[in-house]
Amino acid sequence: MPFNGEDYYEILGVPRNASKEEIKRAYRRLALKYHPDRNKSPEAEEMFKKISEAYAVLSDDEKRRIYDMYGKAGLQGQYAGAEDIFRGSRSVFEEIFRDLGFGDFESIFERFFGGFGWRPREREPIASLVDVEVTLEEVFHGGEKRIDLRLRDVCRSCGGTGAEAGGLEICPTCGGSGKKVTQRNVGFAFFTTVTVCNTCGGSGKVVKRRCNVCGGRGYVEVVDSISFPIPRGVEEGEVIVLRGRGDLDPEAGRRGDLHIRFKIKPHPVFRREGSDLVLEIPVSPSEAVVGRKIRFRTLDGYEEVKLNPNSIHQPIILRGRGMPRRNGGRGDLLVYLRIKIPDKLTKEQRRIYGELASIEAGQMDEERRKLLS
Ligand SMILES: [Zn+2]
Ligand SMILES: [Zn+2]
Repeated sequence: MPFNGEDYYEILGVPRNASKEEIKRAYRRLALKYHPDRNKSPEAEEMFKKISEAYAVLSDDEKRRIYDMYGKAGLQGQYAGAEDIFRGSRSVFEEIFRDLGFGDFESIFERFFGGFGWRPREREPIASLVDVEVTLEEVFHGGEKRIDLRLRDVCRSCGGTGAEAGGLEICPTCGGSGKKVTQRNVGFAFFTTVTVCNTCGGSGKVVKRRCNVCGGRGYVEVVDSISFPIPRGVEEGEVIVLRGRGDLDPEAGRRGDLHIRFKIKPHPVFRREGSDLVLEIPVSPSEAVVGRKIRFRTLDGYEEVKLNPNSIHQPIILRGRGMPRRNGGRGDLLVYLRIKIPDKLTKEQRRIYGELASIEAGQMDEERRKLLS
């Protein structure tokens, strides 16, 4: 336990005004003598804890200042326990241990100060990805969408333990610590490694009587109805993340994030180019020539364009009538005209086109003569 026992300076055998260098030398010397990899006596372990605690405090300017002024009671007020006392001193110890050929810092302090700096590998659960098809209208207006996903969720009956009430027992392999300590002899010293116990996966407990809801797996398959927003103007392939709504990651013990990737269905009329909308409308030659007004439906109402002969060669641009942009505003609506010769001509059309053609033929012959002769 920290904060008990003798004076830190006495433990390290240095004067109260010792320099950092002197304190470090004293700790190194004592660590060589008492490190449990080298000294197997039970007292050595106790001493090693004491000198390490003393060094953690005296090697740190702030902790030393508090200790000098208020003693251990002062430290107690500032630091919660061993973990706190050693926090921030990691590199100081690591350097010395590396020098002396001892095992790593974490494994040794883990052994002494019960759980210090150690946890069964707490990692982010794996995320799931789902593709969702949306229409151009949905992208245009934004809104909510709901999908039903079949996925795994923590079994509520056993809380994910896989055991019925009282059906857990202490792991026989690790004795409940959840850790596996291995020592490797490297001649003059041991390297100590602490890993997660394979038998219990770090929980320290194993299932004796299985939960009958999940059959001991700790999870159940559910159909989760998940609603999410469609951002206005969302782009093809854009992803939104719903925290903790994905599939359960049994290793991590919780559900991962759900990544929703948007796929935009092709629209029968409009094509999207970035934030612009592109539309192609068929017009007859005469409509283009006389400059008719054409009215058509868009994603949010109606638009009207006046045709003119120039609009055959370049699009009519309706500013700000395209798709919403993510950062506000809207793109443009580009209207391309496609000359369409009527499929079936009435008698009257045939007559008029015929008259028109003979008039135009003279004009066009003239134009072609200039160009081609
Ligand atoms: Zn175990
Ligand atoms: Zn269960």
